[in-house]
Amino acid sequence: MNAVYDLHCHSTASDGALTPAGLVQRARQQGVDYLALTDHDTTDGLVEAQSSAKSANISLIPGIELSASWSHQCIHIVGLNIDPQYPPLCDGIGKLQSQRVERAKKIASKLEKKKIPGAFDAVSRSAGKGMITRTHFAEFLLSQNHISTLQEAFDRYLSRGKPAFVSTAWAATEDVVSWITGSGGVAVLAHPLRYKLTASKMRRLLSEFKEMGGQGIEVVSGRNNPDEIRISANYAKKFGLSGSVGSDFHN
Ligand code: AMP
Ligand code: MN
Ligand code: MN
Ligand code: MN
Repeated sequence: MNAVYDLHCHSTASDGALTPAGLVQRARQQGVDYLALTDHDTTDGLVEAQSSAKSANISLIPGIELSASWSHQCIHIVGLNIDPQYPPLCDGIGKLQSQRVERAKKIASKLEKKKIPGAFDAVSRSAGKGMITRTHFAEFLLSQNHISTLQEAFDRYLSRGKPAFVSTAWAATEDVVSWITGSGGVAVLAHPLRYKLTASKMRRLLSEFKEMGGQGIEVVSGRNNPDEIRISANYAKKFGLSGSVGSDFHN
């Protein structure tokens, strides 16, 4: 029997619905053998996930999904098998976390101008000790009946070009990759087709990413279709990157 891998998942440490322990239990029930917890810009869930994984007899790979800037655009880099104690990684995460809080305040004030008050308090409460993400804003907008699906929250308010979008200068991709590889981890470009890059820009990203020390690209990501898998697999082969597989599970 082949082992089952899921190398991209979220918990309540960022925008996932399950606690780290709950996520591990569910992954076990779903037949996963190797699970990476990859919360947005935090490693806070890893200790709980690791101890739960021991009793569930599942291999937990310590991971993270870092927000990075490349060519004035936000991209996500998954780090697998990282050392969460590596000082440059810890420092980098600290800065990203402050940026997340500052961005959240700005998003909230933009919503306020659209006559939607109270967003910052609400998302702070729902994120708890975890990272505040745009998912929390989408859930808040849904709970207030401003929209009827989470997708609509992004389409009408939170995506680039929409009234509550706040552009953020996340860490340079080169630095993000070096924090991961320096800690002994593998840097993987997350959901490559979600950035809507032209083919030539995608090639530039992949060649620069490889040059920086990136080693992988998600070939199977969430609910992508066979055509998308084939396109990503071709990129992996062409640029000498390993193909990763992850559900990007949130709930
Ligand atoms: P952030 O990292 O705070 O900008 O939030 C990004 C998160 O929002 C992603 O990881 C997804 O979980 C979620 N997200 C982004 N775009 C969409 C979308 N169009 N529909 C639903 N969720 C989205
Ligand atoms: Mn997310
Ligand atoms: Mn992502
Ligand atoms: Mn993700």
